[in-house]
Amino acid sequence: MNNDFNFKKKYGQNFLQDNNILEKIVNSVNITKDDLVIEIGPGSGALTKKIIEKTNKVICFEIDTDLKKYLDVFEKYGVQIIYGDFLKQNINEIIKDIKYNNLYIIANLPYYITTPIITKIIDDKIPVKSCTFMIQKEVCDRLKAKPNTKQYNSLSIFIDYYFEVEKVLDVSKNVFYPKPNVDSSVILLKKRSNYKVNLKNEDIFFKLISDSFKFKRKTLRNNLKSYDLDKINNVLNKYNLDLSVRAENLTIEQFAEISNVL
Ligand code: SAM
Repeated sequence: MNNDFNFKKKYGQNFLQDNNILEKIVNSVNITKDDLVIEIGPGSGALTKKIIEKTNKVICFEIDTDLKKYLDVFEKYGVQIIYGDFLKQNINEIIKDIKYNNLYIIANLPYYITTPIITKIIDDKIPVKSCTFMIQKEVCDRLKAKPNTKQYNSLSIFIDYYFEVEKVLDVSKNVFYPKPNVDSSVILLKKRSNYKVNLKNEDIFFKLISDSFKFKRKTLRNNLKSYDLDKINNVLNKYNLDLSVRAENLTIEQFAEISNVL
């Protein structure tokens, strides 16, 4: 890549320079030639180069058309490159005519939109087998967080419902150019074949969790004023808890039980 490339901070452009780490990311899953890989933000194609060694069914989404001069070369390997904002794409429509075995998403993510990207994959029901993401180390700790910790939040629970979460490795900020301010981790989100808890209604469960964590320091009584608090209290009492508890103290199973009585 030329040194004269104008790196854009607003797009989270910190390009990975370490061959060993690029290989570990791609080898975090067992990609075969019948699998489809979606890469978000290929940049100058460092990761793409490793992915096409496994399969040529690859679709990349890159917002920055200035990178076209580095990415054009991949088209001759069958890679489809879509220039645009990943968040605005209809992925299910784009992949609907492609025959593939498993779908993997792999990315060194632009950190400014980590949560919206993960939320989109969940909300759009993109049929992934797994996602391998380079993310900020601190965000990785939040995604893996357990109840009664500072990092535990609504995203930890959403992720736990859909995915098994595995940290692949920690990555120093020194292996990126330009060097970011934070360290990173590679995380593997493996779609569960059976979701973590049984729900009568997913929408009620997700709304309950969002509302419960709305003001993190507030009790459930204060965050859930518009709910049937007697029903919630009945469930909490079974665990020797009451409405003075905070969302960060409840497990996914307890949230599921509450949502199933609402
Ligand atoms: N994959 C390359 C690597 O590992 O070196 C680049 C990773 S860099 C952290 C993030 C990439 O995502 C950049 O190329 C950036 O232009 C791209 N990007 C940022 N926002 C995006 C968006 N909304 N949709 C698609 N790509 C985006």
